[in-house]
Amino acid sequence: MHEYSIVMALMEQCEALALEHQATGIEQVVLKIGILSGVEPALLSQAFDTFKLETVCHNAKLIMNIQPLVLQCRDCQTQSEVNERTVICPECGGNNTLVIDGEDMMLMQLVLDT
Ligand SMILES: [Zn+2]
Repeated sequence: MHEYSIVMALMEQCEALALEHQATGIEQVVLKIGILSGVEPALLSQAFDTFKLETVCHNAKLIMNIQPLVLQCRDCQTQSEVNERTVICPECGGNNTLVIDGEDMMLMQLVLDT
């Protein structure tokens, strides 16, 4: 499953950061999940809870912030936030848009236990 490999990579990132800061554990993991990232939050959360037991994240709480799609329209210069998969500018209906945000998944914050 896609989400499992994401969580494995995330745990490795957390462990490296914990080591770097000499933390004994991680209290909270905050993720930004773009609606176009292809990540299913429910599956990710499930995978996180399964994998965390063996890692430095075993007491960690997972917070997922869903990032809407942000489109910049090249025609009317409007920047819009949309909650669906689209490339159509809600302002003028054109499709000459650029995706500014909402395509990726990022680790935003880690609360370390020291
Ligand atoms: Zn437009």
